[in-house]
Amino acid sequence: MAEVLVYVDHVDGTVRKPTLELLTLARRLGEPVAVHLGPGAEAAAPVLGEHGAVRVLAADAPEFADYLVAPKVDALQAAVAAVEPAAVLVPSSAEGKEIAARLALRIESGLITDAVDVTAGDEGPVVTLSVFAAAYTTTSRVTTGTPVITVKPNSVAPEAAQAAGTVEELAVSFGPLATGTKVVSRTPRESTGRPELTEAAIVVSGGRGVNGAENFAVIEALADSLGAAVGASRAAVDAGWYPHSHQIGQTGKTVSPQLYVAAGISGAIQHRAGMQTSKTIVAVNKDAEAPIFELVDFGVVGDLFDVVPALTDEVTARRG
Ligand SMILES: Cc1cc2nc3c(=O)[nH]c(=O)nc-3n(C[C@H](O)[C@H](O)[C@H](O)COP(=O)(O)OP(=O)(O)OC[C@H]3O[C@@H](n4cnc5c(N)ncnc54)[C@H](O)[C@@H]3O)c2cc1C
Repeated sequence: MAEVLVYVDHVDGTVRKPTLELLTLARRLGEPVAVHLGPGAEAAAPVLGEHGAVRVLAADAPEFADYLVAPKVDALQAAVAAVEPAAVLVPSSAEGKEIAARLALRIESGLITDAVDVTAGDEGPVVTLSVFAAAYTTTSRVTTGTPVITVKPNSVAPEAAQAAGTVEELAVSFGPLATGTKVVSRTPRESTGRPELTEAAIVVSGGRGVNGAENFAVIEALADSLGAAVGASRAAVDAGWYPHSHQIGQTGKTVSPQLYVAAGISGAIQHRAGMQTSKTIVAVNKDAEAPIFELVDFGVVGDLFDVVPALTDEVTARRG
């Protein structure tokens, strides 16, 4: 059976959920082979194996941390040469897309970014994209070389399927460009304890209806009761109530969680562009005519300051 390379996104061997999603998709195409770069391959191997990785190709070198993406591209290229895979799957993070694009160029292959689904086809993987603010769904296929595909987080639920997950060393030699861009400092972001916005299974967002930075505590409380990330509309961000890093939409982040809760958000097309592919959408808005109600699965017409705290209490009570 053909092998499919999956680029592992991890923090010191703690594998992030989008990688497990990629392994699940890779199993539709062949036998997943994980590529783990940096420290922690032995720690990562069990979870990668549990999700179907037959092998874990591992390389560790200071270059991966000390320089931007080029050393990782060298390593992934070495893995492609060693495995001759049917496809290469990479998470659709900013870094993942840069790695994938550089790899595709180097191996003279077609590239598809931001897939929301990947299935097996007679002539190679068939890739689904959600485009133009999710107004269209397209299917595409790479026609040249080894398909390189980046997949958005939450495109599929990770499914366990035990495989060997045997760690094998990947030999990598870095090219002259690998050390072209050095990391000169690192400042960790203060952790909120909440999940990363684009990877979260649940997102709770607030808009202009929240009416003030201090009132975002109401949104955060619901998010925390659900283990969710917090998002915001541009109106809320422009007003300075919440950081731009949390903006959802055309000029913010795109999310596709299992559950998206929009409170005090009207549902402008530019906001929809960032959340329309969410699996279940719930809105709380005091205006029954608000456009957001056109796309919801569940809508509550009411004042968010009544509805959201009541919902938080109910969730908290049920979680006991
Ligand atoms: C080029 C461009 C790019 C853009 N990019 C983005 C983007 O990335 N993301 C984005 O979000 N927007 C973006 N916008 C802006 C977008 O057009 C809207 O202006 C914005 O989304 C509106 O935010 P909102 O829904 O919070 O505010 P509003 O449209 O003002 O809606 C507020 C809603 O809250 C409701 N409300 C008020 N009080 C309460 C209450 N107490 N309880 C319940 N409901 C209440 C109101 O009924 C209303 O529906 C962009 C616009 C342009 C032109």
